[in-house]
Amino acid sequence: MNCMNWFVVKSEIKNHLKEKNVPFNNMIIVSACLAGINCKWNGKSSPCSKVIKLVKKGKAIPVCAEQLGGLTTPRMPAEQRKVKVFRKDGVDVTAEFKKGAKEVLNIAKMYKCKKAILKSNSPSCGSGKIYDGAFSGKLIVGDGVLVKLLKKNNIKVYTEEEI
Ligand code: SF4
Repeated sequence: MNCMNWFVVKSEIKNHLKEKNVPFNNMIIVSACLAGINCKWNGKSSPCSKVIKLVKKGKAIPVCAEQLGGLTTPRMPAEQRKVKVFRKDGVDVTAEFKKGAKEVLNIAKMYKCKKAILKSNSPSCGSGKIYDGAFSGKLIVGDGVLVKLLKKNNIKVYTEEEI
């Protein structure tokens, strides 16, 4: 995200919180696709009513690390293989995934977020389980790129299945 975009997003979030009278801290980061935003690789979302409620109450900030990393929507699915991320056609998208994770961490720090509720199994947002990297539909033990970074920064991560 360039400086201008970041400035606009920041101001929009601040204005929203002001309108809702929400204190500018202790917010929860949530996967935008759980909030009903069509940001998934297939252009769809995975709405979770509990997450949508948190956003509507002004308690949660929906973000999509893959979009913030500069990837398009829709986009080709990608999976982690060891420390890298590859699209189904073999293109390495590790840099975009890492960039998006850093942008989410910036937002989380700005709002002093201590918690995140993120989409299970995703190569960015998955916590504890991710797809195996072979596009086989099998899950293995592991964390998504964003989740690794958030945990490293002492942000507690839950999946939508845990709330
Ligand atoms: S990166 Fe996270 S928020 Fe974005 S579509 Fe994937 S799971 Fe949802």
